[in-house]
Amino acid sequence: MPNTIEHVFATPVEVEPGILRVTLPLPSGPKHVHCYLLRGTDGWTLVDTGLGLAEPSWEEILGQVDGPVARIFITHMHPDHVGGAEAAARATGAPVYQGGLDYEQCERVWGATDWPERIAEWFVVHGVPAPEAEELIESGHVFADFVRFAWNPIIVEPGEEIDGWRILALPGHADGHLALHRDGVLIAGDTLLAPITPAIGLYPESRPDPLGDYVGTLRTIAELAPRVSYGGHGATIAEPRPRAHAIEAHHVERLDRTEAALATKARTGYDVSHALFGSELPPIQRRFAVAEALSHLERLVVLGRARRTGDDRAVAYTAA
Ligand SMILES: [Zn+2]
Repeated sequence: MPNTIEHVFATPVEVEPGILRVTLPLPSGPKHVHCYLLRGTDGWTLVDTGLGLAEPSWEEILGQVDGPVARIFITHMHPDHVGGAEAAARATGAPVYQGGLDYEQCERVWGATDWPERIAEWFVVHGVPAPEAEELIESGHVFADFVRFAWNPIIVEPGEEIDGWRILALPGHADGHLALHRDGVLIAGDTLLAPITPAIGLYPESRPDPLGDYVGTLRTIAELAPRVSYGGHGATIAEPRPRAHAIEAHHVERLDRTEAALATKARTGYDVSHALFGSELPPIQRRFAVAEALSHLERLVVLGRARRTGDDRAVAYTAA
């Protein structure tokens, strides 16, 4: 059953010689996240660090591994990847490496106290009713409180190498998303997943066309044609190229449905999230749904298939 994955949490599993996978629990969403340990000459490179909430300590996890962790690499600033970075750095004494753009956004979102208000205000502009936006603020504060990223990491940029692995920029799921590539192996973070597809959302203070970025990323991966891709959630992907094509086709279809939702009248991002994902979503899910609707709407604007109307207080979209 390819869609079912049995996870043994917090026990490093060798997925191929020199690469260990450490799977940690998540309270929501895909219910788990994968971190990886890459064997190097001076120790392991730990890629991503989990949520840092209630999982076993890094001391406990790494006690099962031979040799020290020499460095920690963060693929992107979402809480399930960066939240445990401070604890992992403390447990290992290893330096944390993170992309420049990614760290800038990490600090702006998780390092600030007013992000939940800023994002809620922005959702209201895109049609989210005030009571729902209020709920977002409350849940946002609960969430932000337990994200413990590592302050002042060593900044790395695409094109550089880290212990022999080439750093790639693969934006879309996050603006500053980085991945590692060596000898036909892609450590992909959340750029390529199976069976789920990575969430591609538009957020305030970020790049204007994340879905356009992401389609570029999928084509980059298809061209790179790695032998295998290890992602942040779900299954190992032995044939990354067809998976990249399939995810692109999924977004082509979703763009068509987004365009169809504008056929009769102007709609907000919130309206379109209902058309795409239904009306029965809890607040956190609605937030992802609105962000996802907006990334598709903005892509349609870029393609000349929709128009954005309104001002900085209320935005809606119409057919082109
Ligand atoms: Zn993730």
